[in-house]
Amino acid sequence: MVDHFIMQMRPLFGEEEKKAICDYMDEDGFITEFKRTTQFEQMIADYTGARHCIVVNNGTISLTLAAMAVGVVAGDEVIVPNYTMIASPNAVKMFGAVPVFVDVERDTLCLDIELVKKAITPKTRAIMLVSANGRAPAAGIAAFEALAKEKGIALIEDSAQSLGSWFPDGRHVGRAGRVGSFSFSSPKIVSTGQGGALITDDDEIARRLRRLKDFGRSGGGNDIHDSIGFNFKFTELQACIGIEQMRKLPARVIRKKEIWKRYQEKLAGIDGVSVFPHDLALTAPWFIDVRVERREGLIDYLKQRNVGTRVMYPPITRQAAYDLPGDYPVAEDVGRRGLWLPSAVQLSDDEIDHVCEAIRDFYEGPKNR
Ligand SMILES: *Cc1c(COP(=O)(O)O)cnc(C)c1O
Repeated sequence: MVDHFIMQMRPLFGEEEKKAICDYMDEDGFITEFKRTTQFEQMIADYTGARHCIVVNNGTISLTLAAMAVGVVAGDEVIVPNYTMIASPNAVKMFGAVPVFVDVERDTLCLDIELVKKAITPKTRAIMLVSANGRAPAAGIAAFEALAKEKGIALIEDSAQSLGSWFPDGRHVGRAGRVGSFSFSSPKIVSTGQGGALITDDDEIARRLRRLKDFGRSGGGNDIHDSIGFNFKFTELQACIGIEQMRKLPARVIRKKEIWKRYQEKLAGIDGVSVFPHDLALTAPWFIDVRVERREGLIDYLKQRNVGTRVMYPPITRQAAYDLPGDYPVAEDVGRRGLWLPSAVQLSDDEIDHVCEAIRDFYEGPKNR
């Protein structure tokens, strides 16, 4: 029996995080980024296999810095999927670059490469590939790398949802781009409340990123500035939490896969709901994403049954902030029918069963609502 409300997502912090912060407070009082932050960066570099990791204060500014570091300037076009968190386009909008929206593949919800090819103009300076929910594009990541190379433009990866997910060629998601970006906001698989990380194998890009986040300083703590930079630094308190969260990541990856598998089995055969596919050998599903019929009715019914959900992103072009014309059948379909089911890593099997039973009752129940 489930007698409490099941939230669609909530972060999970434990005694380890609490102790790490207390230990730090007994040792040092600067709070701003230092040794703990370096350790956290090293853990992410080791986990993903990247040569460099640079953390910043969120997974939006990380994308802004990624774009600046690869040479995108105001007026340049950046190709962005029309299905994504609004941070992806806003990150380049922030300094006057122009996001150009392209529809996504039906199953992976990643950029459709054929449409990307058509959207490239002489002004295109980068492609921002978003690995939606950990998935890689079905067209293959190599096809995107080849296209970027052929056109002389940069591939940037917004892998905010993809820590713990791999490409079929064995690289961690985020490593195919010149820069890959992660987020540690509260819904993500690993959280520091707010936070972001950039990974790259390119020494020069890494150097630029470090300067951009620290006032353009030529060295730590000095006041010699040879380039324009800002302040997007991290804090040791976040790093204390991040280090403990990274230690828990391997177990979370396993649990996310189990959760998805259980949902998929329990929802099988229900007319009206289909689970987006995942290859569990590669991806750790961050959120349980499904296409549903009669979405608004289902959301209300599930709420009565103590189940929280969240509608998936509507097309960015339909947001009042953009309000652009254009035909984006896949993104529009997701905007109408896409729904996220409870997906927190601490979800119990009983809770998953309760959610699936409630969904079955909605579509097949005696009253057939
Ligand atoms: C979460 C997310 C972001 C934004 O990250 P923040 O840390 O919240 O700024 C960007 N892109 C995608 C795809 C995301 O899921």
